[in-house]
Amino acid sequence: MTTIDGMGTGRARCVLAPNPSPMTLDGTNTWVLAEPGAERALVIDPGPADEGHLRRVAGTVAGGGRRVALVLLTHGHADHAEGARRFAELSGAAAVRALDPAHRLGDEGLAEGEAVTLDGLELTVMETPGHSDDSLCFWIPADRAILTGDTVLGYGTTVVDGKLGDYLDSLDRLRDFAGTAGAATILPGHGPKLDDPIGALDHYIGHRRERLAQVEAAVRAGAGTAREVVERVYTDVDRALWPAAEWSVQAQLDYLTDKGVI
Ligand SMILES: [Zn+2]
Repeated sequence: MTTIDGMGTGRARCVLAPNPSPMTLDGTNTWVLAEPGAERALVIDPGPADEGHLRRVAGTVAGGGRRVALVLLTHGHADHAEGARRFAELSGAAAVRALDPAHRLGDEGLAEGEAVTLDGLELTVMETPGHSDDSLCFWIPADRAILTGDTVLGYGTTVVDGKLGDYLDSLDRLRDFAGTAGAATILPGHGPKLDDPIGALDHYIGHRRERLAQVEAAVRAGAGTAREVVERVYTDVDRALWPAAEWSVQAQLDYLTDKGVI
């Protein structure tokens, strides 16, 4: 059993939100990041609007003798972003920065290749659409860690709520980046950290290709709707996840149609 709450790297520490479910695994990972010895921290994905959790995150930062300067979001889904404004209010953070303007507090966004720096801490923003259109990853070069939000999870596979073609491109890009940059760790939005980034990304990419082949085969065998495809292909998946699987299948059907495969 991996301990998720409190896990991390030299600069990142996880505070696990109490919102476990089939979709959120053990709960949402809220990440506190700071340069060693620095007075200010930033928080990525404050999590759901759970007052107790938000206070615990603020307390974790204060307990380390720091204050929160900034909040960043990996994407706008409620289990990551819903508590962001309230967290900024109670922690005194000056801004919430996200790709999607709807989730920002203040004028500053986040964009591909941008560097976010705070008291010696440095992050690089990577746009990785697919799980959602607004999904970002953050590269922490000093820890050789990629913080992936829901683009890559600690176990299981993520839902594609954006475009599958985008998601496949994002995975390929992360795989290339992990190899080139020598990434040592993935810090996911749910589940335990992964200490073999390339292995994890290869597994994700392989899984997606396999599912696509299964969906294509199901359509050729007569499945007419996303639901019918799920019933044939997702027999190994908990039924509680079938509604989410339908989203994934629809994205796969759209992708295969766009590509002229079906
Ligand atoms: Zn999400």
